[in-house]
Amino acid sequence: MKAPVLTAYDTPLELRDDIEIAPPGPGEVKVKVVASGVCHSDLSVLNGTIPLPTPILLGHEGAGVVEEVGDGVTTVAPGDHVVLSFVPACGECYTCKHGQAYLCEKSAAQAAAGLLDGTTRLTSGGAPLHQMACLGTFGPYAIVPEISMVKIPDDVPLDVAALIGCGVLTGVGAALNTASIQAGDTVAVIGCGGVGLNVIQGAKIAGATTIIAIDMVASKLEMAKEFGATHTIDASEGDPVGAAMAINGRGADVAFEVIGLGATMEQAINTARPGGEVILVGVPRMDVFLNLNAAFTFLYTAKSIKGCWYGSSNVHDDVPKLLDLWRRGELKLKELISKEIDNEHVNEAFEDMKAGTVARSVILHHHD
Ligand SMILES: [Zn+2]
Ligand SMILES: [Zn+2]
Repeated sequence: MKAPVLTAYDTPLELRDDIEIAPPGPGEVKVKVVASGVCHSDLSVLNGTIPLPTPILLGHEGAGVVEEVGDGVTTVAPGDHVVLSFVPACGECYTCKHGQAYLCEKSAAQAAAGLLDGTTRLTSGGAPLHQMACLGTFGPYAIVPEISMVKIPDDVPLDVAALIGCGVLTGVGAALNTASIQAGDTVAVIGCGGVGLNVIQGAKIAGATTIIAIDMVASKLEMAKEFGATHTIDASEGDPVGAAMAINGRGADVAFEVIGLGATMEQAINTARPGGEVILVGVPRMDVFLNLNAAFTFLYTAKSIKGCWYGSSNVHDDVPKLLDLWRRGELKLKELISKEIDNEHVNEAFEDMKAGTVARSVILHHHD
């Protein structure tokens, strides 16, 4: 199998054609990956923000067709179309049973960048090749846990389905699940990349009528308008918090941070009105700490701050809900795809992402 591999942090992915893939073990499934989004979190592994062992096959936002199932697999069969979930959801652990499948206890295994037993089914040059998020969708085939996928109807195009697996569940979920947006609310979204655009369209679906998009890249602010932003603020000019407060004279009912920097998290907290809600969605480096005034952040202003992992999604419920919204024309999916590429051009996709010229690049795999 040929796929681009991260061999060391801060280096371009290296195209390797010697990747061997073992058959699925018990509870595992071989998936023909048809499409994979290139997400900012892939770049975050490349630059060490999310520290995972190398060499590693990246890619955690994909969809495809079940090719082969291992012993004991009962929920999918060969030929089924599936959205891959970058968080496994076992349905049986404490958090899954408490409606928090996005924190499934089985996901602890992902730190080792293998499957649920900590080992990988991939080798390259005879040595183990790690898999991001129990997936590795930058390759045309993947061995993944049965609990890391959701079966979808065959008529959903797999390129749009792929995006659901991370960016859409995370961004739309942040607005619909994590936040408590009320009809008529003012919402601010700091960071308008692929996930931020989904927060914006989720806020619109939730009934927000003033949606303030904040970014430093003009092209991202233009895209934000297409996804529902009613106001845009170019944060490279002046004081974005003051500009956002000036829009309704009070601040946002809900402020989202979708970048992962300490400074912008503090901006989100300051952009929320007293009594408002702050949702932290962006993935920070491991060494980011916030400097918050306890009295004025929490007590006198009664703001609440919530961390948002995977859009607080329970994938088995939320993937069908999102597809429903898409069928009704309320959720844009195809529109998120700026570029379709093959997996030899992921490095260019990272450059486009850094420049802010794309919402999403999507890899369409060849299978020969
Ligand atoms: Zn992602
Ligand atoms: Zn679980």
